[in-house]
Amino acid sequence: MSRRFTLMYIPDSGKQVRRLLISHRLLVSALVAVLLCTALLGYVVADYFRLQLDQEQFNQLLVENSEQRQQLGQMSRDLNGLRHEMIVLAESDARVREALSPTTENLVTVPVGIGGAIDTSTADMTELQKQINSLRLAIDLRRESQEEVRNLLNDKHSLASATPDGWPTKGWLTSYFGMRSSPYTGRRKMHEGLDIAANTGTLVTATADGVVVKATTEPGFGKVVMIDHGYGYRTIFGHNSKLLVKAGTRIRRGDRIAEVGNTGRSTGSHLHYEVRLNGVPIDPRKLL
Ligand SMILES: [Zn+2]
Repeated sequence: MSRRFTLMYIPDSGKQVRRLLISHRLLVSALVAVLLCTALLGYVVADYFRLQLDQEQFNQLLVENSEQRQQLGQMSRDLNGLRHEMIVLAESDARVREALSPTTENLVTVPVGIGGAIDTSTADMTELQKQINSLRLAIDLRRESQEEVRNLLNDKHSLASATPDGWPTKGWLTSYFGMRSSPYTGRRKMHEGLDIAANTGTLVTATADGVVVKATTEPGFGKVVMIDHGYGYRTIFGHNSKLLVKAGTRIRRGDRIAEVGNTGRSTGSHLHYEVRLNGVPIDPRKLL
């Protein structure tokens, strides 16, 4: 047996009163329906606000995206600038290398190693990363090349300072390199150096950097100095009156090493100057 409710509608006087019989089940169903509707409405309203929020975030993201695109464009322009500077560097590097070694046989040819320019309007992160990698490679290559150039310069510098150059004393040539009649025996004999006549006591200076390997007195050369310059070069200074260095002394070109004299087998005050390359006497006149 179901309970029932009665809903009464009482209008203004003179009109009929209306009654409505409502079963308990109907009332419960109506309540459930109202609750469901409320929940649905709540959900819809919440969803609406959520969408509203999403839209805001979306707009914000759009703004950020546009900003980042601009930054990306700027970055790719910067990268293009760097790339251009790298090319300029590579070109000047190539000129230095060519000037140092026109035949380039001493140098491993180092390529420029730079990719093409980026299209700054369509640049994306992958493209930028590629460009950065390429620049990094180019920088490594430049570094390698600079190292080579530095070594080559050092070598050239060392060779230049080790090669005898200039006059070892102030005087005048009295005897050349080559076959000549010996002043003692009259027989033709090889003269393996230059004789430079000068007053006794005139300074004798080294003609290249090196180390004194001999500073002693010998029957032939008298008081003699021998300097090793490396690269196969040695110089010999004979007939001195006085030695100013000892074996083992490090010598720079222009350092005073002796004074001219007339010691050993000599017929007058002069310097016997000899240059040897890999043990073979060469004509020092080519190096004066
Ligand atoms: Zn001589």
